[in-house]
Amino acid sequence: MAKYDAVICGAGPSGSTAAKYMAEKGLKVVLLEKKSFPRDKPCGGALRPSIIEEFDYVRDGIKKIPHSICLRAKMYSPSLQNFIEYRPGKAVMYNIQRVHFDAMLADLARRSGAELRENAEVKSVSVKSNGCALQLKNGEEVEGNVILGAGGMHDPVAKYLRKKEGLPERWPRSDIGLGIVKEYEVGEDFIENRFGDEHTAYFHLKPNNLYGYTWTFSQVSSLNIGFGTLWNDAKKVNIKNVFAKYLDFLKKEGLAPETLKLGRPKAGLVPLKGGIKKSYSDRILILGDAAGFATPVGGDGIYFGMCSGRIAADVVEYAIEHNAFEKDTLSRYQEEWYKLWGEDLKAMCYYADKIYDKTERILRYASKDKVLTERCVGLWEGKYKASKMKWKIVARLARDFFVYDVLRL
Ligand SMILES: Cc1cc2nc3c(=O)[nH]c(=O)nc-3n(C[C@H](O)[C@H](O)[C@H](O)COP(=O)(O)OP(=O)(O)OC[C@H]3O[C@@H](n4cnc5c(N)ncnc54)[C@H](O)[C@@H]3O)c2cc1C
Repeated sequence: MAKYDAVICGAGPSGSTAAKYMAEKGLKVVLLEKKSFPRDKPCGGALRPSIIEEFDYVRDGIKKIPHSICLRAKMYSPSLQNFIEYRPGKAVMYNIQRVHFDAMLADLARRSGAELRENAEVKSVSVKSNGCALQLKNGEEVEGNVILGAGGMHDPVAKYLRKKEGLPERWPRSDIGLGIVKEYEVGEDFIENRFGDEHTAYFHLKPNNLYGYTWTFSQVSSLNIGFGTLWNDAKKVNIKNVFAKYLDFLKKEGLAPETLKLGRPKAGLVPLKGGIKKSYSDRILILGDAAGFATPVGGDGIYFGMCSGRIAADVVEYAIEHNAFEKDTLSRYQEEWYKLWGEDLKAMCYYADKIYDKTERILRYASKDKVLTERCVGLWEGKYKASKMKWKIVARLARDFFVYDVLRL
């Protein structure tokens, strides 16, 4: 008999969420993490409000770690002449630091009964008809009934599944984004004076005419400053220079202290072209970034990763109950996530191409048209589904073209 019901590779938001839910269902689950907590992860640390709404334990959990609630966002066009300001009277997003957030999620999974093993790097995968196993760097083998690949962009389980299912072995370069980010300690006074109680978030679109955006998010006493673009665009420039230029700009604007030193921003990858074609195989499910669950417009993936963990837990529970671990049973996982966000991520690829192509114009329209702004922001808030909103947004853009550019009202 397999030692564990489920063996999970990676204790990021996806893996820890899956582990927590499975342990709560009474399943025997082990969470294998190659690093030890607290460990950092390059990230803007912006949580969609839906995370707080849908995962009540996160609402309580973040109270115990440094965080801020952003109540206002400002988004600027490349010329800085057009911008939108969004202030809905409730949280636009919650700002956390991954070093604390991920440790908290892993700890919550452990407290729920999952076994957390740190410094346990997965090297390879084996699947047989009567069980499966992950082989660790130290030579040990961990056996289970099902394996969950939640190891992010370089997840070894996803690599195995891609090969087995005839998918490209790696993410095509055109499908991934590269982000560079650093958390700067600037002190509570600076944050209070420049970002206020509302913790205004700043987005500057298309820096250096590159696809993507730079951001500045404020914490209690620190700033999270970053820049994200497509991998292929990043290769055309020195992205550290783009980042440094942005830092100088922030200093001029009074949004970063004059004395702030560049330091060493860290880079990370993120999938930007929607979900993987097949996220399941015999005895295997793939979660989070490893399955391509981040938004093509903004590159945020924590919400989808956590949701995929929750769905996977339900599917694994069903598989254990029915002692059925083959593709036919596990395909429910793909059906579920696809229903919830598969079409939306595809639609967002379309939005991303439009936004980063006609940035100046779209920001000009949005700065005058509250309906357009509300529809776009509603996508981030989870109020609207991107796939359902697509033609409504296109129609609004067409209307704005007529009103602002043809009639020049
Ligand atoms: C620069 C940047 C900024 C971002 N900003 C945001 C943001 O503001 N908001 C947002 O929602 N999303 C953001 N994202 C995306 C977000 O970071 C990911 O979508 C999210 O981390 C996915 O979670 P995950 O659990 O799937 O993977 P990860 O967070 O990558 O976690 C994977 C875990 O698996 C472990 N692991 C990897 N390989 C192995 C192995 N072989 N054996 C054992 N363990 C292994 C890793 O150490 C890690 O702990 C950003 C991404 C980047 C690159």
